[in-house]
Amino acid sequence: MLKIARFTVEGMTEGCVTDRNAPRFSWQLESDRNGCRMATARLRVGDWQQDCTEQISIPYAGSPLQPFTEYEAHLSVTDDTGETAEAAVRFETGRLDTPWSGKWITDGQYHFTEKAASPKPMVFCKKLPAFRDVKKARIYATAMGIYNLYLDGRKVGEDFFAPGFTAYQKQLQYRTYDVTSELADGKEHELTAVVAGGWAVGRYTYKNRNRVYADRQAFLAEIKVDDGLGQETVIGTDQTWKVTMDGPFLEAEFYNGEVYDARKAFFTAADGKKSESPAAGKTQAGSASDENGIGGWHAAALETLRISPKIEAQYGDPVRAHEAFQPVSVTKTPSGTLVYDFGQNFAGVICARVHGAKAGQKIVFTHAEVLMNGELYREPLRTAKQEAVLVCRDGDQTYMPTLTYMGFRYVGVTGISQKDLELTAVALYSDIHETGSFSCSNELVNKLQSNICWGAKSNFVDIPTDCPQRDERLGWTGDIALFAPAAVYNFSMKRFLEKWLRDVKAEQRHGGGIPMIIPFVKVYWQWELVVTMAVDHWGDACVLVPWAEYQADGDLDLLREMYPVMQKYVKACKFWAGLFSVGKKRYIWQLLHHYGDWVAPNSDMWTWMKRGKFTATAALSRSSALLAQIADLLGKPEDSAKYRTLHEKTSDAYRSILMDENCRLKNKEEFQTGYVLPLHYDMLNAEDRKKTAARLHELVQKEGYHIGTGFPGTPYILFALADNGYEDDAFRMLLCDTCPSWLYEVKVGGTTIWERWDALKEDGTCNTGEGDGTGGMVSFNHYASGSVGDFLYRRIAGIEATSGGYKTFRVKPLIGGGLTSASGSTETAYGTASSSWHIEDGGSFRIKVSVPVGAECELVLPDGTSEKLGSGTYERTCRLA
Ligand code: BGC
Repeated sequence: MLKIARFTVEGMTEGCVTDRNAPRFSWQLESDRNGCRMATARLRVGDWQQDCTEQISIPYAGSPLQPFTEYEAHLSVTDDTGETAEAAVRFETGRLDTPWSGKWITDGQYHFTEKAASPKPMVFCKKLPAFRDVKKARIYATAMGIYNLYLDGRKVGEDFFAPGFTAYQKQLQYRTYDVTSELADGKEHELTAVVAGGWAVGRYTYKNRNRVYADRQAFLAEIKVDDGLGQETVIGTDQTWKVTMDGPFLEAEFYNGEVYDARKAFFTAADGKKSESPAAGKTQAGSASDENGIGGWHAAALETLRISPKIEAQYGDPVRAHEAFQPVSVTKTPSGTLVYDFGQNFAGVICARVHGAKAGQKIVFTHAEVLMNGELYREPLRTAKQEAVLVCRDGDQTYMPTLTYMGFRYVGVTGISQKDLELTAVALYSDIHETGSFSCSNELVNKLQSNICWGAKSNFVDIPTDCPQRDERLGWTGDIALFAPAAVYNFSMKRFLEKWLRDVKAEQRHGGGIPMIIPFVKVYWQWELVVTMAVDHWGDACVLVPWAEYQADGDLDLLREMYPVMQKYVKACKFWAGLFSVGKKRYIWQLLHHYGDWVAPNSDMWTWMKRGKFTATAALSRSSALLAQIADLLGKPEDSAKYRTLHEKTSDAYRSILMDENCRLKNKEEFQTGYVLPLHYDMLNAEDRKKTAARLHELVQKEGYHIGTGFPGTPYILFALADNGYEDDAFRMLLCDTCPSWLYEVKVGGTTIWERWDALKEDGTCNTGEGDGTGGMVSFNHYASGSVGDFLYRRIAGIEATSGGYKTFRVKPLIGGGLTSASGSTETAYGTASSSWHIEDGGSFRIKVSVPVGAECELVLPDGTSEKLGSGTYERTCRLA
C-alpha cells in the first residue's frame, strides 16, 4: 500500500508559523511493494494547485499569502501502479511585514553600565481584559535578551532562550504562541515576561564582553485576539505595561548561571516537556503584580534600540527540554561536598525538588564535567561559574533554571541534606531530532557513536557552539564546518543549519571574509582585521555546511542561496593566497591568520598555526572543487570550469611547492594532516596519490596508529587510508585505544567527545594547555573530533549519497577490524535508507538494505558484485574472500 509517511512545510509536520512568501513543501512516501515509484503528485493550497514530479522543497506559487492566516496544504500522490495516497499539513502565516503596533519597552530607570557582568533580569507585566468571544488568540513576542513568557503564572510555550541567537544587527526572530483556549474563558488574565541579558546584553565571550547588541534588555510583543465576527483586539507593548527589576531571578547569565529567589516566585516552575521532570507543575501559580513580595513596579519606558534588525517569524528550531536524567550515584567528596553523578556529560539544567525548606535557605548547585581527586574539577570552566542558586521559600518546592544552561555531568550541592533533595536533570538543546543510528559488533565503537551524538546535542544550543561549559560557547565556524557531515547522518539539521547559514550570509564581510565565529562577536580588536580576510576551514563553513546539508536533504534552494556567499569567499581566499606572490606561489595560501592543524596532539598552538599554509592551500583547492560541482548543479557551466581550474592550479601548487619529488611534505616535521588533505580532497594524480598514501601509512604506523591530526585532518584520515588501499590500517587507527585516539576517550570513561585528544592524560591529570599558547583551553564536550561519525556511516555501514538528498546512493560496506556486524540508518529526503550486515559463522556475508520510495541504490557487496535497487527492502549474501 502506498503511504505518505511525512508531509512537511518548511521542514515541519506541525506548528509551522512562517513569514516566507513561498513556503516549501516536501514529502516522503512508503510502500510495501518493492520498486514503487511516484508517478504524479498534486499539491493544493486554497485555489492554487500544482502537479509535481519532484517531492523536495516545492515552493508555494499561488496568490500572495495573507498575514495571520491559517492554511492547509493538501497532497495527493499516485504511484506507478495507480495506487494513491493523501495527506494534509497545516501552517500559519506570521506577520509577513505587518508593522508592529507594539513598541520596544524597557525599564527606563535601569542603566546597565557594569563591565564584565550581566544585567539583572527585568519583569514586565500587563493585565489583559476579559474577552467576550475568542475565536483565535495569538501572542507575538521577541526581545533583546532572552525571555520567558507566563500567562497567569504558567509558562507559555516550551521553548528556552527565545528568541534564539541570530546576527541581531540584521535579523531577529519572534515567536508566535497560540493562547486561544487560555483567553477564551471570559476572564481577565495577566501576562508576564521575564527578560534576561542572554546573548544580546549579557556577558559573552571569554573577554567578558557584554551589551554586545543592546544597552539593556528590551521586550516587544503583541497580543491579537479575533472574535470571529470581524472584531480584532490588538494589545501591544507600550508604557501601560509595568516593569520591575525586583523579580525572583536575582541573576541570570549563560556562563555564571542563575540565582533564584523562590520567595518571589509568581509562576509555576518551568518543567520543559518531559513529564518525568519533577518540576512539572508542582509550585503554585500566582500573580506577578500584587503578591509574593515583588515590589518596585513602575511604568515601562519606550526603548530605542541601537540596531534595527528585520524581525521575522521563528525559522530555526527552538531550544527545548529533551532527555531527563536520574543520578547514577550520590557521594560525598573528600572535602565533604555532596556530589550527584548523572552518568552523562551534557548541556542542560538540574531540576531540584526540595522538601521542608525554610524561607531564606540557600542551596547552591555547582556544575562540572569531571572529577579530579574525587572533587569537582572546575578549572577548565575558566571564569564561568556554572552555578544555580536557589533561595528557598518555606516548605516543599521545585526549581529548574530556565534562563541559563550548563555543561556538566556532576553537580555539587551545598545548603541541604541529601534526604531533603530529589535531584534530576534535563538536557536542553535545539529541537533537532535524532534521525540516524549506527551500531556494530564492537561495544567501544558503539559508545563512541553515543559520545558523538551527545557532543552534538550539547553543542546544538540554538547555534552550533564549540563547547557548552566554559566562558566561550561561541559559534565557531570551523567546528561545524568539519562536523556537519556527521551531524546530518545523525540528526534532522535542516532548520537548525539554515537558520545559522542565514547568519553566515549576514556576517560575511565586504571583502568576502567569513568570521571565525558566527554570529560574530568580537573578542579581540584584532579580530575585526582578521575577519575581513579569510581563515581556512573556519571560513570554509560557508561551503562545507551547505554542502553537507544538501547531501542529506537535496534542497537546491540552500545551495542557490549560499552560492554568492561561497563565490565571494573563494575569491577572497584566492586574493589572500595571491597577494605578494608570483607564479605558482600565487596558489599557496599563507596570509594571514590560520588556525591550521588546530589541537593536533603533542604539539602547541604555534605549531598548529604554522601548518596553516598546508591546511589553507588544501582548503582552497577543496572549496574550489565543491564550487565547481555546485555550479554544475545550479546550471552554471562557465563558473564550474573556472572553479575546476582553480582547484587544479591550487592542487598543483600544493604538490609542487609544499611536497618534494617523493611526495614528502616540505616542512620541518611531517604531520598526518599534511598528507590526509591532498588525498581526501582529490588533489593528486594516481601516481602521487599512491606515494602520498604510502607515506601517510608509514607515518601512521610509526606513530603506533595513534591519531596525529588536528581539526582539519581528523574527519578525513580514515578515508585517506581506507580509500587508498589501507583499509586494515584505517580500522587499526579507529580501534586504537591508547592515547591519543578516539577509543582512548571512550576507554577512560568519556561520555562525550573531547576538545583535546589528551584532555585527560594517561597519568590521570588534565591537559589544560598550559604553556601551549592557548591560555588554558580544555573542554570535555567539543564535537569536532566526533566528525569520525561520518566514516562509521559512510564506510562501515557503507551508506553514501551519490546525489543530493540520496536520490541516488550507494551501499558499500567496508569489512575489517574484526567487526562481525554493523547497522546504520539515516533519514534521507525520501525516507529512511539503511544497511545492516553481519558475517555468518561459515564466513558468508549477509546484508539487509532498505531504499526509500523515490531513491535508487547501488549495492556493492564485498565480493565486488553490484546491482541497482529501486525502493524496498532487500537481503543479499555473498562469500567473503
Ligand atoms: C574553540 C575552538 C575553535 C578555536 C579556534 C577555541 O577556543 O573552542 O573549538 O574552533 O578556538 O581555533
